[in-house]
Amino acid sequence: MQDYHTHVPGTHGGYLCSVTRADWERVARAEGMEPCFGVHPWYVEGEDPTVIAFELDEWLSRYPKAGVGETGLDATAAHVGTLSLQRVFLQVHLGAAFRHERMAHLHGAHAWTELLDILQQRARNGTLPKVLLHAWNGPHELARSFLELGAIFSVGMRELTHPKARERYARIPIDRLFPETDDHPENWERTLALLAVIRADFSRE
Ligand SMILES: [Zn+2]
Repeated sequence: MQDYHTHVPGTHGGYLCSVTRADWERVARAEGMEPCFGVHPWYVEGEDPTVIAFELDEWLSRYPKAGVGETGLDATAAHVGTLSLQRVFLQVHLGAAFRHERMAHLHGAHAWTELLDILQQRARNGTLPKVLLHAWNGPHELARSFLELGAIFSVGMRELTHPKARERYARIPIDRLFPETDDHPENWERTLALLAVIRADFSRE
């Protein structure tokens, strides 16, 4: 099992997401992990989407095994002010992921429903890349719509210890739900143990 979402290189392999353009060199150099190039929704201010679009194409061509991310939308109070710019960056990332046939690593705090709309629209247009929803904490009805689009999910300690964890995760097929440490490598063993409990409860509807 590998780590499906972190920004800190770890010993379990997996996906290492960058958060700013200046971070791409660092993740590209990390050994034993799959680098992902992107601009996190928290850091879109001050970056130029046109430049990022161009550079993403270049870097994804240079690194044929790299993914795209972290990208997504964050509508929490601290970040809602940049939502319109976040949307522009999200489309830049999804477009690059689609053209290069890479997975897009998505953040969706307080924005899962809008994210779903955007992905569904791309599915209709035939331009939807593979997507991973990290720190997934939406209700199962919403998960089902994302599952129909082929999405996979990753969850960590924060999600798995939530009182609604079983209700949210036990009906997601095991080949679509994966562990993440999200910068807390010390949580790895407990995350796997908690995920195993949820998976053992898996019930098909
Ligand atoms: Zn992250």
